[in-house]
Amino acid sequence: MSLAPPDSNGIEGRRYGAWVALRADATAKRVSCVCACGAVRQVAIDALESGMSRSCGCTPLSRAEVDATRREIAQRRRLEDWRPQR
Ligand SMILES: [Zn+2]
Repeated sequence: MSLAPPDSNGIEGRRYGAWVALRADATAKRVSCVCACGAVRQVAIDALESGMSRSCGCTPLSRAEVDATRREIAQRRRLEDWRPQR
């Protein structure tokens, strides 16, 4: 848990559509993600957070699903704001 660099925002383990974030790189700009199909890619965190990238391409998502994921992410951010940040 304490292995994550402080600027990675604790992204590891988060779900973004079919992706599960594994580990942010040193710049915290990209993160290794494993897709639900098992593919592993480096994905830009911006693309994950904005809903632009939801899978390796194996799972086309509808606009509604993208919007739902965006809401989920937004809600998660609000919840995290309530927690003391260490
Ligand atoms: Zn995939």
